[in-house]
Amino acid sequence: MDRPSAGSQSPRDSHFEIDDIVWSPCANLGYRRSRVVSIDQQTDSIYVGDNSGSQHAVRKSEVRPFYDVGETRTFQDNTEMVHLDDANILDNLRKRYVKDEIYTYTANVLLAVNPYKELPQLYTKEVMSRYWGKNPGTLPPHPYATADVAYRQLLRDRKNQALVISGESGAGKTETAKITMRYLTSMSRTDAAQGTRIQEKIIAANPILESFGNATTVMNLNSSRFGKYNEMMFNPVGSLVGAGIRTFLLESSRVVFQQKGEKNYHVFYELLAGMEEEDLDSLCLDRQSSYKLLHSSGTKPLQEKSVESQRLGKQFKELKQALSIFIDDETDTTIWQVLGALIHLGEVDFVEASRPEDLVSSEPSPCASPCSAAAASASAASASGTAAAATADVGTQPATVEIHPDTEESLETAADLLGMGALSIAKILKFKEMHVNRQGRVSHIKCPRTLAQARQTLQCIIKILYTRLFEKIVARINEVSNAGANPDAHYQNIGTLDIYGFERLEHNSFEQLCINLANERLQQFFVEEVLEAEQRMYAEERLSVTEMELPDSAPVVFGIQALLTKLLDEHSLRAVKNLVRTEDKDQKFCELVHSKLVGKRGPIMALRLKASRGNGGPGLHDGFQISHYAGAVSYSTKGWIDKNNDSLVPEIETVLAEAETPLLQEMADTSRTAHSGERLCSVSSRYLSNLTDLLETLKQCSVHYIRCFNPNQERKPGLFKPKYVLDQVIQCGTVELVKIMHYGFPHRCVLKDLRGRFQKLLPPEFAHYSDRDFMHAVMLAWEIDDSQWTLGTSRLFLKAGQLRALEELRDTGG
Ligand code: ADP
Ligand code: MG
Repeated sequence: MDRPSAGSQSPRDSHFEIDDIVWSPCANLGYRRSRVVSIDQQTDSIYVGDNSGSQHAVRKSEVRPFYDVGETRTFQDNTEMVHLDDANILDNLRKRYVKDEIYTYTANVLLAVNPYKELPQLYTKEVMSRYWGKNPGTLPPHPYATADVAYRQLLRDRKNQALVISGESGAGKTETAKITMRYLTSMSRTDAAQGTRIQEKIIAANPILESFGNATTVMNLNSSRFGKYNEMMFNPVGSLVGAGIRTFLLESSRVVFQQKGEKNYHVFYELLAGMEEEDLDSLCLDRQSSYKLLHSSGTKPLQEKSVESQRLGKQFKELKQALSIFIDDETDTTIWQVLGALIHLGEVDFVEASRPEDLVSSEPSPCASPCSAAAASASAASASGTAAAATADVGTQPATVEIHPDTEESLETAADLLGMGALSIAKILKFKEMHVNRQGRVSHIKCPRTLAQARQTLQCIIKILYTRLFEKIVARINEVSNAGANPDAHYQNIGTLDIYGFERLEHNSFEQLCINLANERLQQFFVEEVLEAEQRMYAEERLSVTEMELPDSAPVVFGIQALLTKLLDEHSLRAVKNLVRTEDKDQKFCELVHSKLVGKRGPIMALRLKASRGNGGPGLHDGFQISHYAGAVSYSTKGWIDKNNDSLVPEIETVLAEAETPLLQEMADTSRTAHSGERLCSVSSRYLSNLTDLLETLKQCSVHYIRCFNPNQERKPGLFKPKYVLDQVIQCGTVELVKIMHYGFPHRCVLKDLRGRFQKLLPPEFAHYSDRDFMHAVMLAWEIDDSQWTLGTSRLFLKAGQLRALEELRDTGG
């Protein structure tokens, strides 16, 4: 089932004549300016020619009218254009971009095209003041205007506000979020009761989050690898009283593995570049060494005094400075110790242990690892209720792997830095602790891990420690940022959502599906809350506006959620209980997806079978494909079962709880200790529930949208790749929005409010008029073109640009 094409034309637009200048589709440019040479009514084709003299046929439905206003004239609101289609929107964005006018409205949605260069003149203090308290639409499009509207509505309606910033990776979401937050923090007052300025804290949180949660990817040198919702709280008179951050799903796999050309989290490189020599010594780190955790994707250690090293060193100083606002010196030291420890842990490797005779003689089955063999015999014992002899022996099996002698020192250093015993970490790495319930008695057995399992366990520990450190830091920022807020007071807030954009990489995995699901749900929210609501409102106000078919994300959202909750969680649980062979648990999951979700009618139709690798045949699929609103993405299911379990190494909790440093003790989650038995801490379930909470939050807010576009993948200033932008324009529903807003009326003002504002425009005789009649009289008296406005039952609806005109009338007294 294909999604309705957003670029399709409504019939009323598609009348063409010979010699008309039109936009015709072009693989490179998206659309090319062409001339109609002939029209074939039978086949509905149009022959077009371009400057080079070549001619070709195109389908009429793909041709767009050309709107000639010259190269320099642009529209600050797309809905002001006569022709509202993808080609003309694209052209308007391009012409504005060339003039460094990177912002454009589509009614009340702000579109932003990443300039890839500093435009300081756009963000000065004067510019901020100019936007403060101004009517939207009276000044050029700007994130300040969007933030300002949110602030005014918060005060006026006493309602929470949300700025939802979307766009693909590298489009400028995080920068735009910072711009809006800087505006709100700079312009709003601080509550007198607040000792230190809360503004400072909100601003200081950014570099910390970026160091720990951003990394260099192929799409973006500073890509956020987590989602965040920043809330700024205001009291009833509009003073800033506190702030909070909610984060979503940090990409933990990045700490142990990076794709080619990508890097680990910034903080590691900043540490190595910026830390004083003696502090580095205390972490046993060396600036020039190549560490596996940081350099295995091909990045080289930093050259001393290189530009990059100096930049990172400076970032490190800023990070330390920012951290000092939130944490004490002791915690600061611990943070660097943990990071140092992770680098050392990354160096640890294993060797196969020489096995005692008795184990070698009994050939293990080719597929069973020692762990699953142990589990199998243990569960057999449990099922039959036989004596404990067989399983008791399992507990004393010798290790299958040892720490590689060359890396023992790394393990010891790491353990030292963490304030843990090296032996206890080694024990976790070499043995899995299992719990067998026999006739109501739980006994603990330790079974040796294979080489692969030991390596995987090590990676898990590194990921757990990094993730928990990140969460602790965020929690600390929140505590401090809320210290001055009265917990009993009811404050309103403005939230800024900066969530990872849609991703389609060469290899897509569990993380990409989670990221793309978030984008699907936000898109669905946008369609329901903005586009459908718009159509509903016209109906309620009894205005006749053409209905149009809207894209529907529901089938895909439903399909992915079924995949994650039903199939993945159920299968993960089976894996935890050792009911699936460890080696092919991912493969089995993939087969499940294929048999249960792929190719069926209904909502799951969006899942399509990926061509099997190699020689085909059943069981060889390693993934599936999903048609997202932003394009089809193929996912591989390799590693999903483990990625979906947050409790793969429950043994670590006890060791953490017993660590010497308070921060590490706090990082332990004792509800997950080994004693609670085999269990699944489903990553996908927690993520889905976070996502649902977020959408619930948004539903309670007045939402303001900012859509960011990436003009090119080379990160070049001044380079606007039309086809690349066009795809983004179509994907995000901008075309539908422009159409709805154009055929409709983007500005709607409550009649009662307007009456108050425009009272002085008419003589006192009109005082007894109803609000509706009064405004009707104003519009007639001032001869506003009646195609530009219409009266609803409770609101006056205006075309784009008309509100500006009305306000001018009022200011000049008519
Ligand atoms: P996203 O969060 O969407 O992945 P970012 O906000 O990190 O993207 O932007 C990527 C890069 O683009 C930034 O590091 C910056 O160099 C540039 N950029 C984005 N927006 C702007 C802007 N308004 N002005 C200048 N540069 C920008
Ligand atoms: Mg970002």
